[in-house]
Amino acid sequence: MPTYNPPLRDMQFVMHEVLKVVDDLKQIPKHADMDADTITAVLEEGGKFASEVIFPLNISGDAEACTLDPVTHAVTTPKGFKEAYKTYIEGGWAALGCDPEYGGQGLPFVVNSMFYEMLNSANQAWTMYPGLTHGAYAALEAHGTPEQKATYLHKMTSGEWTGTMCLTEPHCGTDLGLMRTKAEPQADGTYKITGNKIFISAGEHDMSDNIIHLVLARLPDAPPGIKGVSLFIVPKFNVNKDGSLGARNGIYCGGLEHKMGIKANATAQIVLDEAVGTLVGLPNKGMNGMFVMMNAARLGVGNQSLGLTEVAFQNALAYAKDRLQMRSLSGTKAKDKPADPIIVHPDVRKMLLTAKAYAEGGRALQGFCSMLLEKEHYHPDEKVRAESAEMLALLTPIVKAFLTDNGHISTNACMQVFGGHGFIKEWGMEQFVRDNRINMIYEGTNTIQSLDLLGRKVLGNNGATLKKFGKLVGQLVEEEGVNEKMAEFITPIAILGDQMTKFTTEIGFKGFQNADEVGAAAVDYLRVAGHLVFGYFWARMAQVALREISTGNTDPFYLAKLQTARFYFSKLFPETATLMRTARAGSKVLMDTDAALA
Ligand SMILES: Cc1cc2nc3c(=O)[nH]c(=O)nc-3n(C[C@H](O)[C@H](O)[C@H](O)COP(=O)(O)OP(=O)(O)OC[C@H]3O[C@@H](n4cnc5c(N)ncnc54)[C@H](O)[C@@H]3O)c2cc1C
Repeated sequence: MPTYNPPLRDMQFVMHEVLKVVDDLKQIPKHADMDADTITAVLEEGGKFASEVIFPLNISGDAEACTLDPVTHAVTTPKGFKEAYKTYIEGGWAALGCDPEYGGQGLPFVVNSMFYEMLNSANQAWTMYPGLTHGAYAALEAHGTPEQKATYLHKMTSGEWTGTMCLTEPHCGTDLGLMRTKAEPQADGTYKITGNKIFISAGEHDMSDNIIHLVLARLPDAPPGIKGVSLFIVPKFNVNKDGSLGARNGIYCGGLEHKMGIKANATAQIVLDEAVGTLVGLPNKGMNGMFVMMNAARLGVGNQSLGLTEVAFQNALAYAKDRLQMRSLSGTKAKDKPADPIIVHPDVRKMLLTAKAYAEGGRALQGFCSMLLEKEHYHPDEKVRAESAEMLALLTPIVKAFLTDNGHISTNACMQVFGGHGFIKEWGMEQFVRDNRINMIYEGTNTIQSLDLLGRKVLGNNGATLKKFGKLVGQLVEEEGVNEKMAEFITPIAILGDQMTKFTTEIGFKGFQNADEVGAAAVDYLRVAGHLVFGYFWARMAQVALREISTGNTDPFYLAKLQTARFYFSKLFPETATLMRTARAGSKVLMDTDAALA
């Protein structure tokens, strides 16, 4: 059976020693009194909830999955899920990052993000029920009318009502402009919505009193394509004027998908049969509201893979120290035992360190992005708000795609550490691989994230935001350029930073002549950009570790951090050279290959 220990020490390192989040939070009036002790105390309790309440339900939830009653359309979640959700609400966890105006605790996003990393490690399928609510909350907070906010946000904050996002239809996933679900205006200002949605996560379940579906649909006079899509609130139970629950709405679960992973999360086929909805935002501008939800969800999906990378690493490490097979190539290490523990073998170490480096690098990036989100929303200086929003927009596709691809690499590597036992269910490792797989697909596939990064976020503004990230790298290079001990961390990012400018211009130029060049390079490009970002954070983490060691701090944590940084720069970061080469190989070899695909 797998185990899970919340990585609280590393979270503190990221927040307080590397990012110095409290200094930044003090610039924001609503967090002026925030201190490290409060954050630590909340995360300690959050870690207990994750490891003691929902982690024990991970394997059983996977085995049992959800069931649908075809007559009542009710979905039953696996044993213990409902009770765990009750404990979650009673503990006030649903309200952690929500606005006090709606009954929230108003804690910084970075705390909520670290808390969610632990939930994702413990049980991704369970975590998606409350997780989706945060995205729906954010969309309504940004685009809802005062009446809609008053009706829904308190109950979503308390966790009594959960949320969903209903975009996908059988014939359209990536291309939402093809959407067919219809919304007919009614005399009372509401809409009757009819259509079929599929793949709706947490689309029906027994954990909350009501489910607030955010649904995309088309008005009768809507222009074709994505410019004719509007956003609606469609509650499972209609809500009376006094806030009490009214009649059952015409939205129900018509079927549950049988799938590879996250089996305990209900992936619902949703039927809308003249369901009553209210418009969010302006007609035909539904994507504005939905993008708020999608951006929150993209950061959330990166966090899902971060959580799985961490828990897979912890279990693989414990196994590698315990499992005895063969002797070390460089001579026996455990003389008192019939064989050495497999951790002595170089390739086993490589697999473990890969997962460790991706987990710790991912945590630093998530922490940084959570602070950008905080500043975007609440910093008193308008310029800081705008700059934070811009940087977050650049980094969001990297968080989504790079962390989930790394999660795939890491969970597979950690399963491999177990040999054949990794393939056997009882160890729990194959579930981490299966659960992670969807993270590369939903919320816009990783290919779509790459196109968003290269096409919109980089070439779309002539690389201006990327240059701003380059400035952060440049500052670090300047700060540490003369420090010999930092050279092994600084030189690679300085070189890649320079190469990136030329690389981007080259693809941009080729893309200008033939747009397929952008499509052919995008996935490789995102991975290179991901390493530039990770390289920057690994250099900053190494900087802190080196400083501590040089002042005589003997805490083994810092030596471990330094070693992991060295591993990252020696064994993972260099793939950027190959990626730039394959990106440069261009589109012709792909688009001229009709004969090969025949
Ligand atoms: C378990 C699960 C949960 C989900 N949860 C939700 C949810 O809660 N709400 C919701 O609305 N949806 C949800 N989805 C749907 C999910 O977001 C979509 O499956 C995803 O966006 C891809 O759409 P698709 O499956 O239609 O694939 P398609 O859009 O048909 O894509 C097929 C392939 O073509 C590629 N492709 C498509 N267009 C391009 C392009 N322009 N350039 C390059 N490649 C391209 C894609 O990357 C992909 O590899 C969920 C899906 C699953 C499986």
